[in-house]
Amino acid sequence: QRLDFIHHSHLPAETRDGYRVKIKANIELLDEIPTVIEYGAEGIGLFRTEFLYLASRSLPSEDTLYRAYREVAERLAPYPVTIRTLDIGGDKFVSTVSLGDEINPALGLRATRLCLKEPKLFRTQLRAILRASVHGDVRILFPMISGHMEILAVKEHLEATREELRREGVPFRDDLPVGIMIEVPTAVTMADVLAREVDFFSIGTNDLIQYALAIDRVNEHVAHLYEPLHPGVLRLIRQATEAAHQAGIEVAMCGEMAGEATYVPVLLGMGLDELSMNALAIPRVKRMIRLSDQEACRRLAGDLLAASTAREVRERLADFLDQHY
Ligand code: PEP
Ligand code: MG
Repeated sequence: QRLDFIHHSHLPAETRDGYRVKIKANIELLDEIPTVIEYGAEGIGLFRTEFLYLASRSLPSEDTLYRAYREVAERLAPYPVTIRTLDIGGDKFVSTVSLGDEINPALGLRATRLCLKEPKLFRTQLRAILRASVHGDVRILFPMISGHMEILAVKEHLEATREELRREGVPFRDDLPVGIMIEVPTAVTMADVLAREVDFFSIGTNDLIQYALAIDRVNEHVAHLYEPLHPGVLRLIRQATEAAHQAGIEVAMCGEMAGEATYVPVLLGMGLDELSMNALAIPRVKRMIRLSDQEACRRLAGDLLAASTAREVRERLADFLDQHY
C-alpha cells in the first residue's frame, strides 16, 4: 500500500477538469531531501533556514551557508528551491542570536525585523543565497513582512548585496525571483500594494491564523480556538490570492493548512497556485487534487466565504466531501 501511495505521488497534481497545482515540500534539514524527491515534490516551496544557526556555537560563516544552499539547489535541480531568510524569534529561538527578554515574543523582535536591525547577519545570508543562485533554480522568500516600507528596506539590502558581489566579480543570478510570506494581517489588507513589489506570495497560515485570531500558535490553553476554517481566515486567504492574481503574480501556501488533504477543495476553490507541505503529506494531497473538480471547488469556496461561523464552514465542507469523494 505504501508503494501504491508513493506511485500516486508522482502523478501530476491536476484536477479532473485540468487545473494544475504545484506541489512542493517544506524542509529544514538537508537530510530531508531524499524524502522530498521520493514523495514527488516539484521543488521546495519553503526552506526554513534556521537550523544552521542552531547547529553551531557561533554564527555560521557565509561559506557554510553558501555550501548548504548550493547543495540543496543542486540536488533539487531542475526543480526550484525557495530559500526563506532567517525567521528567528517568535516561536523559533537559536542560541547564537540573543533577542533579550520579551513578554510577547510573537509580537517582538522577529524574522525580517531582526534582520533589518542586524544588517550584518542579514547581508551574510543574502550573499550566500545569491551566490548559491547560479547552481539551480533558487528563489528568495522574506518572512513576516507587514507593509510596504519593510519590503522596500529588504529590497535595498538585496540590491546593495548584489552591487557588492558585482564589484567583487562573484557570479549570481540577476533575475532571482523575490517573494514575501503573507502571514501578518496587514500584509493581506495591503496585498495589492505589496504584490507590485515582488514576484510571488507565499501564505504562511501558521502565523496568519495566530495573528488574525489573536491565538498563540504554541499555547495549549487556546489551541482549541486555533481555527484554519474560520470564515475570517478564509477571507484573508481569498483577499491575498485575488490581489496577487490581479497583479499577475503567483500565490503559494506553505503553512500547515496546505498539507491537510480535507482542505484541498477549499484551497483549490480559492485559486492557490502552489501548495507546499511536509513531504509525507504529498501523496494524500495529490490524491485529493486528482479526485477534484476545480469548478465545483470554486462554487464551494464561494459558499464557505459567505458562511458566518467556522462550524458552518466545517459542516458545508463535510457535506461536499461526502458528495464528491
Ligand atoms: C507559517 O507561518 O505558516 C509558516 C509557514 O512559517 P513558520 O511556521 O515557519 O512560521
Ligand atoms: Mg511563519
